[in-house]
Amino acid sequence: MIRSNYLARINCFQPIPCNPCETSCPFGAILIGEDITNIPVLDITKCRGCGICVAACPGIAITMAMVTGGDKDYVAIPYEYYPLPEIGDEVTVVDANGNELGHGIVEKLKKPNKNDPTTLVFVIVDSSITKSVVGIKKYIVKDDPIICRCEEIFESEIINAIKKGDRTVDAIKRRTRSGMGMCQGKTCNRLIANIIVRELGISLSEQLPSSKRPPVGVISIKELSQEKS
Ligand code: SF4
Ligand code: SF4
Repeated sequence: MIRSNYLARINCFQPIPCNPCETSCPFGAILIGEDITNIPVLDITKCRGCGICVAACPGIAITMAMVTGGDKDYVAIPYEYYPLPEIGDEVTVVDANGNELGHGIVEKLKKPNKNDPTTLVFVIVDSSITKSVVGIKKYIVKDDPIICRCEEIFESEIINAIKKGDRTVDAIKRRTRSGMGMCQGKTCNRLIANIIVRELGISLSEQLPSSKRPPVGVISIKELSQEKS
């Protein structure tokens, strides 16, 4: 089986103001340009398959693939949930719409940046689906309710975070991403506070209010000055 290098695959098709992929690539292989709402373009002649952009992308919109020419290929997928899969585990891989494509076997795990929690999960998949794979379906445990619907955080993850020492809604948010979705914790913050109270035997009044950072759009002074009253 021929194993060449991994190459980045950019699955980012919306004109959003974002460019960490371009600025993080040490080899200048991704071009967005001055207008950071441009769609990123990969120069495959420069990509070395280091995975740095995969971890740097806040939208989890980059994967890497190594095409072998055989029955099986290798895909590197960013994964930010806990627990991480283990080498040899069978995982369900999905396309950009979340549709299940089939199963893959975890070959290895790697953190491209030790200061970034994103882990790359390297998965062996059938070559027939390589092009479509963008993610791994999160393992769903029966009787384990989702607490944060935006970020798909399960009750067991909240309890694990508490066991690791998190005692506030904000601390759990930093570890699990709960409350970081579009609704900014409208429902889950209250549920998480109650889980903390239940697990630690403390009173609700001991819980600090959590911080909220709703999405904002940048507006220039020029645009403001031209606003019609
Ligand atoms: S994988 Fe590495 S070399 Fe390739 S585009 Fe990403 S950061 Fe650049
Ligand atoms: S960092 Fe990710 S989301 Fe942002 S422009 Fe690059 S590929 Fe798209």
